[in-house]
This record gives sequence, structure tokens and C-alpha cells, in this order.
Amino acid sequence: MRIARFSIDGNVAFGAIEGQAPDDLVIDIIKGIPFADFELSGTKVPLNKVRLLPPVLPSKVVAIGRNYAEHAAELGNEVPEVPVAFFKPSTSVTGPGDPITYPSFSEELHHEAELAVVIGRMCRDVPRDRVKDVILGFTCANDITARDVQRREKQWARAKGFDGACPLGPWVETGIDLATANDLAIQCTVNGEQRQLGRTSEMVRPIEDLIVHLTEAMTLLPGDVVLTGTPAGVGPLNVGDEVAVSIEGIGTLTNKVITRG
Ligand code: MG
Repeated sequence: MRIARFSIDGNVAFGAIEGQAPDDLVIDIIKGIPFADFELSGTKVPLNKVRLLPPVLPSKVVAIGRNYAEHAAELGNEVPEVPVAFFKPSTSVTGPGDPITYPSFSEELHHEAELAVVIGRMCRDVPRDRVKDVILGFTCANDITARDVQRREKQWARAKGFDGACPLGPWVETGIDLATANDLAIQCTVNGEQRQLGRTSEMVRPIEDLIVHLTEAMTLLPGDVVLTGTPAGVGPLNVGDEVAVSIEGIGTLTNKVITRG
């Protein structure tokens, strides 16, 4: 099931996307929230009549750096012995189709296409064989990075945490099992031109390892998001660029870079 969060006529709701052809998609409005048992209302609205929002409102986005060997190498880094983890704040999250404002304090904005894991239930110290039980589904993410700031500043709070630095969407796909999620094609295009192309099977550490590692340290809440790292091919974004992250079996997350107003 593809679960979207959307607004229509000033109201916000979750809904299940139905249909295949892009022009014929409808949303069946969910009664309640997708983190508990829910029912479909049967009230359907055409997708092109709503505004899609970030599919969840995470209390935190926890991201993993350098989880693809080729990407670590392209920036002159080793694959770390222990996963590099960092936060992107809730205020960095933005939705499909939302503009990304080029930050005033950077001259080198980069795209990073990533598989995003959406947590479905509160969890801590999750054993490896229970990881599948704490996941609601998967969506696309773009770990937008001010690369020059990342090089200059020891911690990455500004480089990767500015407003708009975490596009998520277009929806949460709940029908993908863990084995499949660990082997999906992932790509990034800029203005239609391919920049990144990889498979999640190239991740140094699969999803299970990342969730075990993170929940040793912290409680993950329903709606929290874990970014799993980016394949090789990261590169610059300029004002006016349209950047799209596509993941097999999930969908495409598109955003446009705009200048500060
Ligand atoms: Mg990243």
C-alpha cells in the first residue's frame, strides 16, 4: 500500500493511493493514522486535486553517512568502522514538489539520493530479527548537503540541517519486505540527466544493521525516518535545477531549487 499525507481545502489527512497510471491515481482517505490499525473511508479524491505533503512528520531524521563504498571514495573518505550517524532536524523536512531554497551561507549545494526507512512503532534495542516489525514502510529522500559547509564545520548540523535539506516522499510504500528493500535500484536525475544510479544492495550495512545500531542508543518513534546513505555520483545543484530521486517499487521525489526570496 502507498500511504500519502496530503492537504485538500485546508484539511490534512493520510490516504492510500490507488491506481497505476499517473493521471488516474486517487487517494482513499484513511480514518485515523497509519501507525495504528486503520480503515479506509471509501471517500476517494483524485491525486491531482490534492497537495502532497511530507508523508510523515518525524520527531527526528537519523541519517547514516558513507554507507556506500564508492560514494565514500568519491569524496576521499574511508568507509568508517562504525557507522557515521547524524541528525537532520524535523524542520529540514519538506515534501514532494516543494521548493528547496538555496542556503545563503553555501556556494556548493549537493544532492544525495537515499532510501528512507519510516518507523511504524516506538522501539528501542531492537533485535535483528525484529527489525521488520518496527518498520512501516519506505520512501525516497534527498539528503541535501551544503558540501562546502560540511568540509568547513566539524559537525554537520548546518551543512545538512538547514530548512528544506530533507525532502521526503512522495508516499510511504508499505508493501516492500526487508530483503527487497535491501536490493532496489536507486537513482537521482538533475533536469532529467542521470547523476546517481546504484542499488541498495551496495550498502555497506543493510537496513537491519542500521536499525540495531541506532536503537542501541535511542528510542525511535512512529514516523521517525532513517536515511540509509547515498550511492556514488553526488554533485552540484544550482538555482533553477529540478532534482528527482527515484527508487524502484516506491516512486519519484521531485523538488526544484530556488533562490532565497
Ligand atoms: Mg547522505
